[in-house]
Amino acid sequence: MLLEGKKAVITGGTRGIGYAIAERFIEEGAVVTVFGSRQETADAAVEKLLAAHLDAKVWGRTCDLTSLDAVTEAFKAAAEDMGGLDTVVNNAGISQSTPLLDYTADEWQKVMDLNVTAVFNGCRAGAQIMTEAGHGGTITTTSSMVSKYGQPSGCGYPTSKYAVNGLTQCLSRELAPKGIRVNAVAPGITKTDMVAALPEKMIAPLIATIPLGRIGEPEDVANAFVYLASDMSSYVTGAVIPVDGAARS
Ligand code: NAD
Repeated sequence: MLLEGKKAVITGGTRGIGYAIAERFIEEGAVVTVFGSRQETADAAVEKLLAAHLDAKVWGRTCDLTSLDAVTEAFKAAAEDMGGLDTVVNNAGISQSTPLLDYTADEWQKVMDLNVTAVFNGCRAGAQIMTEAGHGGTITTTSSMVSKYGQPSGCGYPTSKYAVNGLTQCLSRELAPKGIRVNAVAPGITKTDMVAALPEKMIAPLIATIPLGRIGEPEDVANAFVYLASDMSSYVTGAVIPVDGAARS
């Protein structure tokens, strides 16, 4: 097992890509705390994970990810539950497709708060625990293919993911001497609830632009997170790994 005994926190771990990461981490032997936007959704995710993996060691928590104090406290409590912290997955995020002239200041701020500030908070809180423990670790963040190509409407979302790539590359250099590796995964369109609910006539033209001929499954993306949290990637840091079937638009 690639993650035997590793202790992980996963934000946005209650559904979609984050849930798949939690499940693959458990299958590879990790101890996991999933963070959700509400305690009920975190509890429901834990129940589902335990039903599928009877021996799983898994907790569910919630906190305001946009508050550094709240994240610091919640990650410390999670590390106490699990007996340490080896890996942080900053996955919670929201997307936007609002045209520029319809953007409000609140909408812009909301995407920056969750997609950038919360990621900074997770890096800061996780690195503090790992530094104090003195054993290194990994931090991996969910970026997006739009961080390379932008998108035709909703400029806040790609902008936030470009920031994720910048933070990843800066922190990989700053934290390398502490043995903490920092990477990002950039998924293409992935079949989470939101995408699965789209009508076939919207999906078919999208698939036609993807050289591998299909939309990504959450497990395709989760496997990249397993690799980056494992010792298999021991010399990989500062990378933004595309998992997008070679989609380029
Ligand atoms: P999703 O909406 O299915 O899941 C989002 C998760 O984030 C949920 O667990 C939710 O509880 C959490 N979350 C949302 N708002 C929150 C808040 N304010 N506070 C705390 N937690 C909050 O989305 P997904 O498709 O699984 O996306 C996960 C990540 O993958 C995001 O960062 C997204 O930008 C990125 N991504 C998704 C796709 C895709 O096609 N699905 C493609 C590229 C990147």
